[in-house]
Amino acid sequence: MKRGFRIGKIAGIDIHVDSSWFIIFVLFSWMLATTYFPGSFPGAGPIIYWLLGLVTSLLVFVSVLIHELAHSLVAIKQGEKVDRITLFILGGVAQITDEPKEPLSEFVMAVVGPLTSFILASFFFMLSLLFFGVSAALRSALIYLAIINTVLGLFNLIPGFPMDGGRVLRSILWSMTGDLRRATRIASFSGQAFSFLLVFLGILEVLRGSLSGLWLIFVGWFLQNAAVRGYRQVVMKTQLRGTKARDLMVEHFTVVDGGITVQILVDHFILKKKERIFLVGGEDYLRGIVCTDDVKKVPKMQRGETFVQDIMTPRDRLEFVGPDEDGEAILRKLAARDVNLIPVMDEEKLIGVICQSDLLRYIQLKNELKS
Ligand SMILES: [Zn+2]
Repeated sequence: MKRGFRIGKIAGIDIHVDSSWFIIFVLFSWMLATTYFPGSFPGAGPIIYWLLGLVTSLLVFVSVLIHELAHSLVAIKQGEKVDRITLFILGGVAQITDEPKEPLSEFVMAVVGPLTSFILASFFFMLSLLFFGVSAALRSALIYLAIINTVLGLFNLIPGFPMDGGRVLRSILWSMTGDLRRATRIASFSGQAFSFLLVFLGILEVLRGSLSGLWLIFVGWFLQNAAVRGYRQVVMKTQLRGTKARDLMVEHFTVVDGGITVQILVDHFILKKKERIFLVGGEDYLRGIVCTDDVKKVPKMQRGETFVQDIMTPRDRLEFVGPDEDGEAILRKLAARDVNLIPVMDEEKLIGVICQSDLLRYIQLKNELKS
């Protein structure tokens, strides 16, 4: 169920590629090899078109990576920690662990991405001028890269959080109001408004008989999701600030064997014992931890033949925190390591486990009781 893999490390930052990116890579290469290149310089063979298509797609990938690296390097320069960069279907995400400390640093960090894309676009455009009359094949590849980088820069400038443009907007609102949460809310609403506009325009396009409208609908849907999720994360972060690991953790757990099926875990442990977190292992050896968030990801039909040891967070992927760790930092760690739970250790002893859904539950309770 892994959603991609690591391809390397640049400036201390892990570079990951999401599996969705491969679909886009094939689509791009195919589109370039069968439509764009044959259209811009007819008469070459399919091998040339495909080769050029693959290399150009790869350079699109490198362009996205440079865009994300620009964000990351500025962040590092400002004293933030960047865990990794993930490249996925519509670009990339740099996982910057801290929220920016003041509006100006957020502004610079956000604006440097699109700026880098525009610089890359001009660079490819200038190169294409050099190849004018020399090689039509190279020239059309370079022009394509110039266009893609311009589109990338413009797309990221859409003023909706968490896009770069939305972050720019948020930093301006933040410096005007002094209220990060309010600024995030407005920037995220603006993102949602834009996403509905894109979906609306996409539907109009499709009704007019143009299939490229589907692309707009897809981008709009993606933006809508990102806007809602980005805002929720900021709200969670501000509400968890000041809470301690010891207030969030579950302290009682049963040990189960990794060899039992998920179905047995559900029937005989979760439902019977009404517990949500289980240690996996023997008497005094911890192999991993499993919680209901892990179980939810297994389709009901497959629970009879999936084993607990396949869905648990194995020991080597666990990051431990102390009982006084801040709730906001825990949320960040869960997201950065892409795990559902985090164990709490006091000295050498395991004293509790925090499950991702516990954080949500805690916030809900806190809101219900208005405390
Ligand atoms: Zn960006």
